[in-house]
Amino acid sequence: MDYEKLANLLFPDVDKTPDYYEEKYPYRKLSKKAEVTRMAPSPTGFIHLGNLYSALADERIAHRHDGVFYLRIEDTDEKRKVEGAVDLIIKTLRYFDIEFDEGAGFPEDAEQNQYGPYVQRQRVEIYHTYAKDLVKKGLAYPCFQTEEELEELRKQQEEEKALTGYYGKYAKDRDLTYEEIEKNLAEGKPYVLRLHSQGTEGKEIVFKDEIKGEVKLPENIHDIVLLKKDGIPTYHFAHAIDDHLMRTTVVVRGGEWLASAPIHYELFNLLGFKMPKYAHTAHLMKIDEETGGKRKLSKRKDPELSLNYYMEDGYHPYCMKIYLLTLLNSNFEEWHNQFPDKPINEFPFSVEKMNQSGALFDKDKFMNISKNELSKLSEDEIYDFLYTWAETYAPDKKDIYFADKEKMLSILRLYMGVGMKRRRKDLAYAKQIFELISYFFTEEADSSADDFKMDEAEKKLILNDYLERFSYEADNTAWFDMLKEIADAHGYSSDIKAYKANPENFKGSVSDIAEAVRIAVTGRANTPDLWTIIHIMGEDAMRERIKKQL
Ligand code: GLU
Repeated sequence: MDYEKLANLLFPDVDKTPDYYEEKYPYRKLSKKAEVTRMAPSPTGFIHLGNLYSALADERIAHRHDGVFYLRIEDTDEKRKVEGAVDLIIKTLRYFDIEFDEGAGFPEDAEQNQYGPYVQRQRVEIYHTYAKDLVKKGLAYPCFQTEEELEELRKQQEEEKALTGYYGKYAKDRDLTYEEIEKNLAEGKPYVLRLHSQGTEGKEIVFKDEIKGEVKLPENIHDIVLLKKDGIPTYHFAHAIDDHLMRTTVVVRGGEWLASAPIHYELFNLLGFKMPKYAHTAHLMKIDEETGGKRKLSKRKDPELSLNYYMEDGYHPYCMKIYLLTLLNSNFEEWHNQFPDKPINEFPFSVEKMNQSGALFDKDKFMNISKNELSKLSEDEIYDFLYTWAETYAPDKKDIYFADKEKMLSILRLYMGVGMKRRRKDLAYAKQIFELISYFFTEEADSSADDFKMDEAEKKLILNDYLERFSYEADNTAWFDMLKEIADAHGYSSDIKAYKANPENFKGSVSDIAEAVRIAVTGRANTPDLWTIIHIMGEDAMRERIKKQL
């Protein structure tokens, strides 16, 4: 067979050679230790915790030594494509404070786009150039088998108890003559381009996985599809060409790809490419509430798999990073405890230390980390985070809550002890904080106020008395003394001890007075220091709320 002639028959329009691209995309000028990593998602519109987990690994591996982390969009499967997915990926990772150095999403002529295009459907010419070259070398051929014929073959192989697939003696179209191929093309028969595998049955390949160590797998013998009927490459072919030409040095990808590694091993060899390092990651697992056993996080069953879940509730990206790093590198937690003030990017992240078996996602642990880390942030960090979060996730609240910066800061100080020595550690996410402080901005009572029972007429008397006696200038102690006076004047005990000793002598105690005021002012039975609340809110607002109650 004249392979050169066949190559020209199949790819008449391809006028470039691999050399052209080798030159166009030279090896990157980086320091020896610097790695080039990538995130290579399909634009399906769903981005999950597992994606973030490996993206953080990629980002750390690249940025630890001034390497490059880029975004490539693997859109070879038209059916799974969703409009706006690229934006979504970039915005989502940005929320979690992970930025790409180059790739999809940057303007086409940007300096960061030298190895582009980064969207696979825009690279068809490149794939065809390499495909043509393989045909020229007798390493790829067109296969005209129909679905029915392939199904027949599968049945035959099952009957013979042979390995199923298109390979060796079963790969009929390996032997088509030039004339037969030409005739099929003239008749408009669809075809795929297959690799002419050089693998040997029974042989093994050995390679090093950065996480799993030495891996032995059977050599690939299958004539796998390189280009589909529409000329679009399969994952395997695109992976080899893209990661070679984009000069990726470490491929971090899901463990489900490990079984195809022999295909990639063969492709890199036949194409004359150097293999990147591989790191096949473990699936994120959780303990199933019903069975108590470990299982994969599932899109259907576990809302916490979706990253939207964390963004909508407003978890701080720093807390998420801390948590994911504890999952990614088992020695991170100890390091972070030892150096709590060191920027986490200084942690010596290592691929080898990544979890070999399924990392266990533990929501409670994540919550604890969130509470703990949030309590360490500065006043400005928390304020800025809440503000940015509100812009997207609570736009209706943003203008109201942030109209007065000083007021918001005082509230945060009151609730989170921000700027003070002892910090509250029960707040984990923005939505929770907003709900907790909402009464400063709206006048809805919550259900905690329902349990408080006081006769309406009695309440009126007490609240009116309170309004008469109230003085904004009184300090916390003087203010509370005033509540005691009200208690004494209405038959309540101003002395809690005395009340406890003889409750029958009183209608209640000063606590009941404070509670009546608290509920009238805040709509809730539980709040931090009421005097402080009133002084943040201001006298007018306080009076207005109580008057409404009356
Ligand atoms: N597009 C592939 C996926 O989403 C990427 C795998 C890889 O990182 O190579 O599974």
